[in-house]
Amino acid sequence: MTFKDLKLNEQLLEGIDSMGYEKATPIQEQVIPPILAGKDIIASAQTGTGKTAAFLLPLLHKLLTEEHDHHHINAMIIVPTRELAVQISQALEGLSYFTSVSSIPVYGGSDGAIFTTEKKALSSGVDVVVCTPGRMIAHLNMGYVKLNDLRYLILDEADRMLDMGFKDDIMRIIGYLPKQRQNLLFSATMPHKIRELARTILHNPVEINI
Ligand code: AMP
Repeated sequence: MTFKDLKLNEQLLEGIDSMGYEKATPIQEQVIPPILAGKDIIASAQTGTGKTAAFLLPLLHKLLTEEHDHHHINAMIIVPTRELAVQISQALEGLSYFTSVSSIPVYGGSDGAIFTTEKKALSSGVDVVVCTPGRMIAHLNMGYVKLNDLRYLILDEADRMLDMGFKDDIMRIIGYLPKQRQNLLFSATMPHKIRELARTILHNPVEINI
């Protein structure tokens, strides 16, 4: 299946082209339509399957086609590590290159200048935030993060986040988010504790196993 068959936004198709993607991978074929339809998703997918674009593409499409306020954060992607935050941000920048969607990685470091840059984006508004849990909480504690327009929450590598002890942090972040939102959970494995997390966060999710 091509990305055109998936009826993605034209500027997004240009970004996909520039990344050299020709056809959707199996996870992309399965995940993109239900996300576009507004469903919550729980997907088991390994790295290397194209899982990042599987959630980024429908997210970007929705941000481009729906009315939204650019002065608020519209989507939050929570990931376990800085490396993954950087990787996802790079894919996001590539895919959204021909669009007006803005994004920022929020993963910290001890440099005060980086904190200030993150703070500026989080308080003046950015479409998509890609963050690690601890750093996001540090910002949330300060009270300037604009979350009242957030409509998309994505948890990537959820099993790793639980293994690293981030469950309480994730639940605290979710406590700040509007209740009306679409939730996407990706995990390499599906142990009981992931099912439990999914039960507390997701609403009637579509389950996809690759
Ligand atoms: P991921 O599973 O998200 O870590 O992606 C693995 C690699 O596949 C990354 O280098 C992506 O840029 C690439 N990729 C994602 N989707 C496609 C696609 N449809 N066609 C070709 N490469 C892709």
